Amino acid sequence: PAEQVAPGPDKKTLVILGTGWGSVSLLKRIDSTLYNVIVISPRNFFLFTPLLPSCTTGTIESRSIMEPIRSITRHKEGIVQYIEAEAKDIDMNRRVVTVESVKHDDDIANGEGPLSIRTAEIPFDYLVVGVGAQNTTFGIPGVEQYGCFLKEITDAQKIRQRIMDRIEQAMLPSTTPEERKRLLHMVVVGGGPTGVEFAGELQDFFEDDLKKWIPSIADDFKVTLVEALPNVLPMFSKQLIEYTEKIFSQEKITVMTKTMVKNVTESTIEADVTTPSGERERQVIPYGLLVWATGNAARPLTRKLMSSIPAQKDSRRGLAVNEFLVVNGTDGVWGLGDCTATKYAPTAQVAAQQGLYLARLFNQLAKTEMIEQEIKDLEALAHHAVDESDRRALDSKIDNRTRVLRRNKMLMPFEYSHQGSLAYIGMDRAVADLAFGEGNYSSGGSLTYIFWRSAYLSMVFSSRNRLLVLVDWLKVKLFGRDVSRE
Ligand code: FAD
Ligand code: NAD
Repeated sequence: PAEQVAPGPDKKTLVILGTGWGSVSLLKRIDSTLYNVIVISPRNFFLFTPLLPSCTTGTIESRSIMEPIRSITRHKEGIVQYIEAEAKDIDMNRRVVTVESVKHDDDIANGEGPLSIRTAEIPFDYLVVGVGAQNTTFGIPGVEQYGCFLKEITDAQKIRQRIMDRIEQAMLPSTTPEERKRLLHMVVVGGGPTGVEFAGELQDFFEDDLKKWIPSIADDFKVTLVEALPNVLPMFSKQLIEYTEKIFSQEKITVMTKTMVKNVTESTIEADVTTPSGERERQVIPYGLLVWATGNAARPLTRKLMSSIPAQKDSRRGLAVNEFLVVNGTDGVWGLGDCTATKYAPTAQVAAQQGLYLARLFNQLAKTEMIEQEIKDLEALAHHAVDESDRRALDSKIDNRTRVLRRNKMLMPFEYSHQGSLAYIGMDRAVADLAFGEGNYSSGGSLTYIFWRSAYLSMVFSSRNRLLVLVDWLKVKLFGRDVSRE
């Protein structure tokens, strides 16, 4: 890359929290020569979440959907500083973010533990909060301790390892038949797209590879999807919900709807099942692997912010923002993506469009400030001009720049354009609810699966990612998935 423009005291400092869909979309499009841009995130890479369920079974390798944040920053025209840390607090009065560096394995190995964690205060003029959300457990006992989530790359790696752990434990000669059944029971709680896609991927893994490599698990291996509502995938059209449930029954995935999990122990899930007669019945389900996918909750930083800003007192799910994505009750602080509570679903599609919008907004804002300064300078010159013709020429320039300024100041509010929803449901099938102009088009099946693959392949972050994902798919087609335990 060409030499980058360095930060300077004449520019405003823009701090961006997070390296997810929202923040990276903003970072990609912002003119970083106009600001001193500082990105703070505990994760030094962007993660392409739509293909994360595929990493739990090795259909795709983790690194194929990770893109180092440096590969983005080093191509920016203005230098962007990245700090690997977590924002712990935001002081709106002093306009500083307190950050805490990430704990590394060798810190722990050296016995330094939390002592090696450094904190620092980062001042900002403008701040963008894009810290995403964490998994919700609704406070249900045992979930945090015994379940696996599916949000980050480490979650997918843990699930992949745990699937093989349970299988190898089930195969030990000392394992009783009853215990083996339990160990091979893979339960997914939450019938939203995360739960559905993971269940589909896991059943594929079993059908395509595990059954061949370890035939003796065939009778006992079972995937169950548990959902509190009467059906899975509530955000999809009725036709696609029915199609998904039909395919799941062909795949032999057990779907338990109207089943609300209430408690989790080391080996069982306790749930209230609503029977066809409308009565509630407590069921105890033995399990080996539990994947918990019941949606989002606000992160501690978001909750702290919400409780410290009076205008946020009615916010529950996340930061309330106005139509320009300014965090209500703040000045010069914007919010985007899953950490905000808006009328839109918490999706990558929304976060990415908000990031793009903010990039345009910041580019415009800096230009406005530049023109304002230019007008001030011209006015000072005109004020001191001795020659009448010089003064008239300067006045005409001022008029011209004022017109440009007025145009530049016209900010449009954020508007979301929904492109549709896509989900993989296993057995080389996908469902899609697509938006076409004013109408909608729903489809499910193998062709939709080809569309799903090509759509995500075209959307992955870089050509490097694209090639890696293609190679992974090809590898699995040729040799099957890897069943070794890392
Ligand atoms: P994130 O992408 O979650 O990024 C948040 C960032 O903030 C991360 O970099 C994180 O490390 C960082 N961070 C966290 N805490 C702090 C802190 N204290 N200080 C600084 N930084 C912090 N959506 C779709 O539209 N289509 C899909 O197909 C799809 N598939 C999905 C599949 C899965 C398995 C999952 C879990 C989600 C999927 N989503 C999908 C939803 C989508 O991933 C999210 O809506 C999207 O990631 C939200 O973007 P974000 O930028 O708000 O947050
Ligand atoms: P979600 O909120 O969409 O679904 C969670 C499900 O869990 C709900 O149907 C809820 O009824 C159920 N549930 C909650 N508590 C329960 C309990 N105690 N017992 C049983 N079931 C319970 O969550 P998600 O699937 O993680 O998705 C989060 C966001 O990410 C959504 O906006 C989603 O659209 C998006 N996402 C999109 C895709 C895609 O487009 N392919 C994939 C994954 C995630």
